[in-house]
Amino acid sequence: EKTADLARAGEPGATKDGTHIAVYANLGSLDDAKSAVTHGAEGCGLLRTEFLFLDRREAPDEDEQLHAYQSIADALGDRPLTIRTLDIGGDKPIAYLPMPHEDNPALGLRGLRTSLWRPELLHTQLRAILRVKPASQVRILLPMVTDASEIRLVRSFVDEHCRALGLDSAPALGIMIETPASAILADQLVNHADFLSIGTNDLSQYTLAMDRGHPELASQLDALHPSVLRLIALAADAGRSAGKEVAVCGGLGSDVTAIPILVGLGVDEVSAVPAAIPRIKRVLRERTLAECEALAREALLQSTAADVRALTGAKR
Ligand code: PEP
Ligand code: MG
Repeated sequence: EKTADLARAGEPGATKDGTHIAVYANLGSLDDAKSAVTHGAEGCGLLRTEFLFLDRREAPDEDEQLHAYQSIADALGDRPLTIRTLDIGGDKPIAYLPMPHEDNPALGLRGLRTSLWRPELLHTQLRAILRVKPASQVRILLPMVTDASEIRLVRSFVDEHCRALGLDSAPALGIMIETPASAILADQLVNHADFLSIGTNDLSQYTLAMDRGHPELASQLDALHPSVLRLIALAADAGRSAGKEVAVCGGLGSDVTAIPILVGLGVDEVSAVPAAIPRIKRVLRERTLAECEALAREALLQSTAADVRALTGAKR
């Protein structure tokens, strides 16, 4: 089965009746980009840039970042590359960015909040991203957004750097939907963003109020919980109404049992760990869009994650 899936991995992701669902890869290194291409990724939906910033004495400068992003863009050929701005927080200390003590790091300076708290890091990163060639290959993604003021501010930074670099158009600027605030407000936020990408890891953590790394809660922390699915549905509906793309780049996008539900909820793109891509494409080929939609409607009516999983015929 695995060999058969791999043999067809080069085909675009599509349901049985031919609706294209883009199957992208999550990357955290240049090696991941190579693996993504071998596994049939149609692009990168999430480049986690933290790998460049952790475990060192000072932040990487603009040229070092450019070099890293450019190598990954080159490894992807002409496939789109979605670069997420730095997503670090109080739980991942970095020497050159001393943070105040936080009792609840998950609720503190994290993601875009850290970038806006120390904007010089963000400016350097944005300039490095904007210098990748060809510019049309790149999209920018912002982590941990909670309202439109954050997007507006970053967009003004991006426009400013584009002018300074002599670029005539700015790349697409998307936001992660990974806080309940952003999911609930997605119909508004979508007017300020060019695309949405749902981060189901944090969205589950914050919706279920369960630490994503808590060993005792791991079995209960299931992104197929109907409360999380309802938030995903809000984001997917917002994207559809505005005619903007909605992706899922959290762990649920790598969970093959979840794929038909996500598609049925209206997700246009899933971004997964490279190794999961061939299987995801097979699962898509086996179902029609109408079947996925019927399953999603049922899933939204369940009251536990286990009931949702039972609907899909899979146990966790
Ligand atoms: C997520 O939260 O689902 C996500 C994709 O971001 P990360 O796992 O890097 O926090
Ligand atoms: Mg996240």
